[in-house]
Amino acid sequence: MLKLKDTLAQQRQQGLYRQRHATSKRDGNKIVIDGTHYTNFASNDYLGLANDPRLINAFKEGADRYGVGSGASQLITGYSTAHQALEERISGFLKQPRTLLFGTGYMANLGAITALLSRNDHLLLDRRSHASLVDAAILSRAKLSRYSTHDVNKLNQELDDNPSMIVSDSVFSMDGDIAPIAALSTLSKQTHSLLLIDDAHGFGVLGDNGRGCLEHCAMSNSDVDIYIGTLGKACGTSGAFICGSEELIETLIQKARSLAYTTAPPPAIAHATLASIDIIQQEGWRREQIKTLVKHFRAGAQQLGLQLSNSSTSIQAIILGDNNKAINASEHLKSKGLYVTAIRPPTVPNNTARLRITLCSNHSEDDVDTLLSALESLPS
Ligand SMILES: *Cc1c(COP(=O)(O)O)cnc(C)c1O
Repeated sequence: MLKLKDTLAQQRQQGLYRQRHATSKRDGNKIVIDGTHYTNFASNDYLGLANDPRLINAFKEGADRYGVGSGASQLITGYSTAHQALEERISGFLKQPRTLLFGTGYMANLGAITALLSRNDHLLLDRRSHASLVDAAILSRAKLSRYSTHDVNKLNQELDDNPSMIVSDSVFSMDGDIAPIAALSTLSKQTHSLLLIDDAHGFGVLGDNGRGCLEHCAMSNSDVDIYIGTLGKACGTSGAFICGSEELIETLIQKARSLAYTTAPPPAIAHATLASIDIIQQEGWRREQIKTLVKHFRAGAQQLGLQLSNSSTSIQAIILGDNNKAINASEHLKSKGLYVTAIRPPTVPNNTARLRITLCSNHSEDDVDTLLSALESLPS
């Protein structure tokens, strides 16, 4: 018998208990929970698009035209001209040969890795990779090796056999630093393996034109075999996509189970995402604003002597170590009207519990100053 009660009590005692908090309203960077208003520093809506009137209008227009649900999986009748238009728009924006939409980033990662690898393959995965990549690796049954990001340059000497695939996040989601994508690309070429990059936190927000991690790192599309982006973060909508060669995309259409055996995402979401891509292309000031806020925040936090992760992106982590210390810090900030989440194991390694702050283009320098003064008065 599973002892659910005991396990839950233990979770609570270790400061690992997790709870959901229903937001009743979101508007710009503000959220309302149980009637209390907060400035939200815990959202991946980096460009502030989720509430943009242009997206809301496009979403309504999409619903009028296509209805609400897609009604079937993509391979049956769920794939619409809205999905097709978005795939073509993303291919054009990123100058990629082909694009394939998925319902979520979790499903895109599962689909890509399980379609391409099986029992006799070897997968090399960064230790800090997102849970969806770890789950995909396990489900593929491939031999799995995890490496530390800072060991990438010596990995080639240490490998017993050539991997079939190398997989990494572009921006590590709990620290905010950027993976050594150029070194990974070199390694993948030397070992004749496929390189998969999950750009969930880069697409739309990194690079002068918002094309993501490859633009940021001045790399070309051909340096990465499988490029994955999500739409629920900088795009402000929902879903995900995979870009790559004609052969890659056709293979995934044949074999990705998380594409075949799930209802296609609502066409209206795809239609609204077309409006996000327009804004991402046209409004570079949103990315500039994030850069300004990041500089401002880091300078202030360093003055306070806070231990920051080594990040130049929207994701800024303050490492506190102890789980309860992180929870207390988060509660303290909430009492000041600032919503910042405490991130604890197993999402991050033991003894590295942290506050994870995300800076978005709809925050102002005043918002950051308010956050800094609340951090100054953190209970020790
Ligand atoms: C958020 C995230 C995902 C999952 O994307 P969803 O569309 O939310 O399922 C995958 N990989 C990384 C690195 C992420 O941060």
